[in-house]
Amino acid sequence: GDFPIETDTLVIGAGPGGYVAAIRAAQTGQNVTIVEKGDLGGVCLNVGCIPSKALIEAGHKTQSAHGNEEMGITAENVSVDFSKVQEWKGQVVNKLTSGVESLLKGNKVDIVKGEVYFVDQNTVKVMDEKNSQTYTFNNCIIATGSTPIEIPNFKFSDRVLDSTGALNLDEIPEKMVVVGGGYIGIELGTAYANFGTEVTILEGTKEILGAFEKQMTQPVKKSLKKKNVNIVTEAMAKGVEESNDGVSVTYEVNGKEETVEADYVLVTVGRRPNTQEMGLEQVGIDVDDKGLINIDNQCRTNKENIYAIGDIVEGPPLAHKASYEGKVAAEAISGEKSVIDYLAIPSVVFADPELASVGYTEQEAKDAGYEVKASKFPFAANGRALSLNNTDGFMKMITRKDDGLVIGAQVAGPNASDVIAELGLAIEAGMTAEDIALTIHAHPTLGEVTMEAADVALGTPIHTM
Ligand code: FAD
Repeated sequence: GDFPIETDTLVIGAGPGGYVAAIRAAQTGQNVTIVEKGDLGGVCLNVGCIPSKALIEAGHKTQSAHGNEEMGITAENVSVDFSKVQEWKGQVVNKLTSGVESLLKGNKVDIVKGEVYFVDQNTVKVMDEKNSQTYTFNNCIIATGSTPIEIPNFKFSDRVLDSTGALNLDEIPEKMVVVGGGYIGIELGTAYANFGTEVTILEGTKEILGAFEKQMTQPVKKSLKKKNVNIVTEAMAKGVEESNDGVSVTYEVNGKEETVEADYVLVTVGRRPNTQEMGLEQVGIDVDDKGLINIDNQCRTNKENIYAIGDIVEGPPLAHKASYEGKVAAEAISGEKSVIDYLAIPSVVFADPELASVGYTEQEAKDAGYEVKASKFPFAANGRALSLNNTDGFMKMITRKDDGLVIGAQVAGPNASDVIAELGLAIEAGMTAEDIALTIHAHPTLGEVTMEAADVALGTPIHTM
């Protein structure tokens, strides 16, 4: 056997969960080792949040380069060198992943490359191509993330793509089929539609983006239609035939079998937690039937010195949730009383327009027994949105009827992803609609819709009736 290396806290996986946990653990004085079998930054930085947003922005820039009829702007000979787009996207990713490496080193975290396998409650083996090294730890934070789900008859290949494949194409496809109308399918489908790809989305249920309220997804559907994206709902993807230069996808809709031809098919029907094949059973860590690790409100598993965070535990599989849990777990190990509270975790879809939600929706609040007021303000009445020529959507603020406490908000519209931040703060800080209405917002800004919705809640709106 090898000589074990000792560490206080072992972090497994260097995604937004693991690397943030490692840094916070080091800040509290722990001696930290982080082990990563792939690239620092995990899914989010390498093949998730960041490259997808880079591609989406390149799509937007392409769209705006074509001009704007209403504004009297026309353009000719717009061209996209997609290999350059990919090169630029790669640079964005590299800047961030090398930033993570510097931050870990700066915080004196030991970075180890390799794959972790549990031996017992205080021991792991780390394997790389050649060697196996034993590490012993006092505490461990598991942050191994998730992997795209493969469905029967759609084996991933050069033409049958998972999200990673779709992010890394070296050409703009003429035609693309997207199986799954969740946020990843809609974001990537929108990006390629903006580059000019003819996109077909096959969604199994009645609605795309089914996790969001219908009134929010309405403007997204409208804009997809404008981009000539064909959305087929209640469509069961059956199978795919691959040829040298394309795919033929079969699906069933209304009891009828249909086929659609394309260059590629992207399958985004969900992700599964990476909790297999790492010896969790050796330690007796509780995993539920979906493969998620059970944790308490400090991210502690049923083994008191082992924590789990991010996509491998219950809750929305989002980067900021993973990072938040990472801080809680690291602080819990150092004896602080930090606990998780998911109320103010936002979720965002970077579609056209963007969708964002935080806290309760109107229906969720009612189901939870609150008497609520839902106050809406449209971007069409916001000067900045008008001057951006981008007025589709609204802010909807959910307040408690008796005292005006802000308990939720939904935004569909330009920069909804940023506009929602103020609402998260309001919920976190226990603010009322009056607090927000009394806050002076710069004019003209998109953020004014927040103040206006608060005024609607108080019954004294200025710019709407
Ligand atoms: P990951 O980021 O998955 O990191 C886990 C790491 O653990 C990986 O690097 C893996 O190599 C490593 N690992 C696994 N097993 C082992 C082992 N046995 N030993 C050593 N290392 C191991 N979220 C958002 O919030 N906003 C977005 O805009 C967004 N966009 C997305 C777009 C796409 C296309 C995708 C696929 C995801 C997106 N997400 C987004 C989700 C986000 O990427 C994840 O929620 C986030 O990465 C989860 O972080 P994590 O730390 O739990 O795991």
